[in-house]
Amino acid sequence: MIRTPEEIGKMRRAGRVVAEIIAETRAFIRPGVTTAEVDAVARKVLERRAARSNFLNYHGFPAVICTSPNNMIVHGIPGDYRVKEGDILSVDCGAIVEGYHGDAAYTTAVGEVSPVAARLIEVTERSLWAGIDKMRPGNRLHEIGRAVQEVAEAAGFSVVRKYVGHAIGTAMHEEPQVPNYWPGSPGPRLRVGNVFAVEPMVNVGGPDTVELEDGWSVVTADGSLSAHFEHTIAVTEHGPEVLTAP
Ligand code: MG
Ligand code: MG
Repeated sequence: MIRTPEEIGKMRRAGRVVAEIIAETRAFIRPGVTTAEVDAVARKVLERRAARSNFLNYHGFPAVICTSPNNMIVHGIPGDYRVKEGDILSVDCGAIVEGYHGDAAYTTAVGEVSPVAARLIEVTERSLWAGIDKMRPGNRLHEIGRAVQEVAEAAGFSVVRKYVGHAIGTAMHEEPQVPNYWPGSPGPRLRVGNVFAVEPMVNVGGPDTVELEDGWSVVTADGSLSAHFEHTIAVTEHGPEVLTAP
């Protein structure tokens, strides 16, 4: 799917709302706050910007962000969990402006965290930017995942296989998928106007995942810590334009 400059302009506006959610929730998170309170911060940004949520009611999801602490990888439901000193918390968030979507995620340290947790966060974010750097016209789609995987595995961590990035536009999840690993073939060439959400999920231990009984929360099978970073990025003739960066 090729997005026109006008469409990318709308996605840029959605991306700015997502960037505000990232900045405001990140500034809010500290020991003692509940994940429902973090969701409320994101709701206020959406309201203030007259943007719609692409998470709320998505297959019945009850909140505007996902909050996934510690060994939870993705899709955690905000609630009465109170984050504590030493936790890490992944926040996945999005917005719709004029029918166009933005989608992003980050993992943050709650107070002082262990050296391995700090390194996991640093490596996962760096793996995202390594993938983003491949989003240039003429490159192959799966060079993105290969770059992500190289960074994560060089640090001794593993990349989740079951959940992947995606094209994005008038729906949050469009085809094609964007794996965070080398799937064995190079994939199609990238073209100006492609817009993807790239979103590495990196585990300290193995890549296997388990879905909890709430039907949403996904955790690491071995109980190890997991981090998640995501941006929505357009391929332009000058290289990648990150639409959701604060
Ligand atoms: Mg997301
Ligand atoms: Mg996404």
